[in-house]
Amino acid sequence: ILSVIEVRKSYGSKEVLKGINLQVRPGEVISVIGPSGSGKTTLIRTINGMEMLTEGQIRMHDKPFLHPTKNGRPDEHYYEHIDRIGMVFQGFYLFPHKTALENVMLAPAYHHRGSEEDIRQFALALLDKVGLLAHAHQYPHQLSGGQQQRVAIARALAMKPAIMLFDEPTSALDPELVGEVLKVIEDLANEGMTMIIVTHEMQFAFKVSDRVIFMEQGQITAAGTPAQLRESENERLCRFLASQQ
Ligand code: ATP
Repeated sequence: ILSVIEVRKSYGSKEVLKGINLQVRPGEVISVIGPSGSGKTTLIRTINGMEMLTEGQIRMHDKPFLHPTKNGRPDEHYYEHIDRIGMVFQGFYLFPHKTALENVMLAPAYHHRGSEEDIRQFALALLDKVGLLAHAHQYPHQLSGGQQQRVAIARALAMKPAIMLFDEPTSALDPELVGEVLKVIEDLANEGMTMIIVTHEMQFAFKVSDRVIFMEQGQITAAGTPAQLRESENERLCRFLASQQ
């Protein structure tokens, strides 16, 4: 569904992604783990077109999606595919003056994805799915961080994405609110949603993922099923996992 091919990304003279290759198959759940500053967030922002790649390419459904461009803007293929990618950020970035329901309806309404009533019904179904139907008419400031992040997940799902990207979705939450958000992501995994999840929640990553990818210094230095990674003798990975216990 998505291919990342020899992707490099530099900020000035600093190379942050050093030749990343990644194939994501339909229904696959991939977690990206690694030390702070290893390039995890940059990778996911690059896949979403929020950061331009310096070299390499990204393909969606085996069609060109992102290439390096001279003007720093996405190339034309970007617009064919970008609304098939749902993104959830560390901060929730809901529109503060809109209710939960309005936040979820916004993108499909803007893109004319059906009648207003259809969009509304689908948005309500998504809020129900993330356990927030009763809060549909509340504003973000009336919701906890965990509830806001669940609205943000419903909002990303509203465009019927082919793949969901999560960038440390629970890092900004109080510890007692982390579980409710991870539960929603786990339910999506069980339903077969294709996902790439950057996370510091190791137990979660190893539980829900088909594949775990370990990044350090801009490179993927270990990748495999959770069982393979647990048994890996890669010294840096072992040390990293031990430090996360
Ligand atoms: P964390 O787990 O702390 O979020 P990360 O693995 O997600 O870390 P990135 O945020 O991708 O790491 O950052 C990788 C490197 O790129 C870091 O050294 C960071 O300082 C640098 N970097 C990120 N964004 C920029 C930017 N806009 N300009 C310059 N350097 C940047």
